[in-house]
Amino acid sequence: MQQPQPLHQTRRSFLLKATQGAAVASLASVIPAVASAAQTTPKQQKLPPDQKLGWAIVGLGEFATNQLIPAFPLCKKSKLVALVSGDPAKAQRIAAANGIPEKNIYNYQNYDSLKDNPDVDVIYIVLPNNMHAEYTIRGAQAGKHIMCEKPMATSVEDCRKMIDACNKAGRKLMIAYRAQYEPFNKEAIRLTQNGDLGKIRMVTSDHGRILDPSKPADKWRADKKMAGGGSLMDIGIYSLNATRYLTGEEPEEVQAFIHSAPNDPRFKEVEENVNFILRFPSGILASCTSSYGFHETKRFSVFGSEARLDLEPATDYYEHEMKITSKEGTQQKKIKEESQFALEIDHMSECVMENKTPKTPGEEGLQDLRLITAIYEAAEKGKPVAIKS
Ligand code: NDP
Repeated sequence: MQQPQPLHQTRRSFLLKATQGAAVASLASVIPAVASAAQTTPKQQKLPPDQKLGWAIVGLGEFATNQLIPAFPLCKKSKLVALVSGDPAKAQRIAAANGIPEKNIYNYQNYDSLKDNPDVDVIYIVLPNNMHAEYTIRGAQAGKHIMCEKPMATSVEDCRKMIDACNKAGRKLMIAYRAQYEPFNKEAIRLTQNGDLGKIRMVTSDHGRILDPSKPADKWRADKKMAGGGSLMDIGIYSLNATRYLTGEEPEEVQAFIHSAPNDPRFKEVEENVNFILRFPSGILASCTSSYGFHETKRFSVFGSEARLDLEPATDYYEHEMKITSKEGTQQKKIKEESQFALEIDHMSECVMENKTPKTPGEEGLQDLRLITAIYEAAEKGKPVAIKS
């Protein structure tokens, strides 16, 4: 096997540069004067190891109820203590089932009064995409740390406003890129970046599913204003984010094609199929697909000079499968499955407790929105678009 490849500095230096504001908060733990400037509260100091931070979930939809709420009992540093919902009966039912007191049920009108609730340290935004910015900003202004679902927002401008609001309030912002906390993906990153696959030449990643707007969770996804875009915003973002975390680099150029089935009412406002290519500084090319028209697919492959790594499914909730193929044959890699939801939620709590910058801060979500915007532009213009660093 080859020596570890020198990791291109672009992604590291990008995150370093991007989180300079957040670094003020990190310095706060060691320099008292900086601490007061960053509005550090006692909650940002180290807590006893058995203490858990209190979380509020905003938006009790499919993902929150089926995946996130059931993950809280698996968390070591986080507990669910409050709910925000427009449906009081549903909220009461979920609160009762999870031991949440009725006083900790909020709606979208009295959301700001969370500022008076000391039980809540972190707010988790699990709303339709176009509501992420407003509820992140209001949450930060209420003095709470924020975790926000992907895509971070529906525009680059909104992403910047979210980052600014959290910095201004001295609160942490993490984007819920769960795959970056998931053990199979973490191993894929390690193998890709430590030279085990040889010199990396290409990455491919495909994400697809059938959009069904007769279901409530897909109704808003077919609405351009609420979703911000089609399959690319919703699931192509997994392909895009994977190429960045696998290579450890930031792309310099994108090319893209978009096609939607003509006369299909599902794609009146949002796109169906996107094919995009990213060129990275080291010369790695990443070729990705994103679709609302093909059977559920969530995979990626990394092509190195010595071996190929296939992860399929790569970004599912459970049951990932990794294969490494080289001249010695194909090997299946066994890795212990763990709840990626519990791992990412606890990561955020740990960052708050120990005053650290999350691994996937707001700047990570902003960068994906910048790239998504460039992909749409490249497809519209029919020519490559350069990405400014
Ligand atoms: P749902 O439609 O199932 O849930 C959204 C919830 O938001 C609703 O149930 C509702 O909760 C609340 N809401 C408030 N206003 C509106 C409105 N005008 N229209 C619709 N809902 C509203 O969507 P998902 O749970 O699938 O997605 C929510 C977010 O989570 C999205 O940003 C999505 O991208 C992300 N997501 C992330 C995944 C991941 O793997 N990381 C997987 C799936 C989704 P209530 O009734 O309580 O008010």
